[in-house]
Amino acid sequence: MHSFVYNALPARVIFGSGTISRLKSEIERAGCRRALLLSTPEQADDLTRIATSIGALAAGTFTHATMHTPADVTDRALRQAQECGADCTISFGGGSSTGLGKAIALRTDLTQIAVPTTYAGSEVTPIIGETKNGVKVTQRTLKVLPEIVIYDVDFTLTLPQRLTITSGTNAIAHAVEALYAEDRNPVISMMAEQAIGAMGRALPAIVSDPLDREARSEAFYGAWLCGVCLGSVGMALHHKLCHVIGGAFDLPHADTHTVILPYAMAYNAKAAPDADAAVARALGGQDGTAALVELAARLGSPRSLKSLGMPEAGIDRAADLAVQNPYWNPRPIERDAVRTLIAAAWAGDAPRPLS
Ligand code: NAD
Repeated sequence: MHSFVYNALPARVIFGSGTISRLKSEIERAGCRRALLLSTPEQADDLTRIATSIGALAAGTFTHATMHTPADVTDRALRQAQECGADCTISFGGGSSTGLGKAIALRTDLTQIAVPTTYAGSEVTPIIGETKNGVKVTQRTLKVLPEIVIYDVDFTLTLPQRLTITSGTNAIAHAVEALYAEDRNPVISMMAEQAIGAMGRALPAIVSDPLDREARSEAFYGAWLCGVCLGSVGMALHHKLCHVIGGAFDLPHADTHTVILPYAMAYNAKAAPDADAAVARALGGQDGTAALVELAARLGSPRSLKSLGMPEAGIDRAADLAVQNPYWNPRPIERDAVRTLIAAAWAGDAPRPLS
């Protein structure tokens, strides 16, 4: 018998190729007239072109968005938003730019239009992580959910190969954990399986041909669904491990997700057989863990925490951090088993399902 609570997240989503041409009319439709455009330094040229395309609606550009949303960057962007009288923000780029738009919305309630260019999925979540004095604090609030998301697949054609692979796997991780979330529900589980399948088909095709527009479109579609999964239900061991290990050893966000995912699946597989079966169905494989390992091999994904720069001496600290605060996971969180998982992920050993 079904028994669940389902909260739909409000957002207007525009998806396709060339959809950036609708930005001007979307700003007007939202009743806004002065947009502050946000990006990282690396995407400043694209941002300038977008600002030019919306003419007088562009009140300013801020091109210093930084990973993990540091508070001092937010303060500078806020000052600029106030000085230029912004009534909305346009976050152009990956999770770093989206995070900055969310941080501004948290403090001002300015309307957000997100134009994502990676597969991170932040644009459809009510989640924000901010860093102050080296500590990252995450919270969920609808105040940070962007009102409008414009997915223009054309911007993803330049996504570098490694970021395509790791950002795509980061997205898959959202969907995998949604399948065994404590508050899972049939709608999100359906999206999760579709999303993993879309990503699993698209990523190898993109690795063969980064300009394959059909595959890029499929991956972006999958990324949207994965983002909805992350935003709608709670995450578990995998996201916890990535958060504490990435934070403690300053490892790259999407790469850490990519390495950990098969190990987290192996840890939880027996306790979450329906999720394991859904991952296997979506990717094609004898079980979820094998399917994820096989996909990583096809993509040439990073496979060990060692290769990302984590010191071996950090394994025990990582295990301590991962079990410090209680949180939901389908299989109980046991320090010895978690340490074994981290040690295997550090070395890049084959992930082993636990009984
Ligand atoms: P990112 O936004 O930091 O982008 C990585 C780099 O790639 C940047 O230099 C960026 O300018 C560049 N880039 C992005 N798109 C490009 C493109 N199409 N072509 C060329 N270069 C491109 O990386 P990310 O993985 O998207 O985001 C990571 C951040 O997002 C982390 O801070 C993470 O915590 C956060 N995040 C938040 C949520 C959430 O729901 N709150 C979800 C996922 C990630």
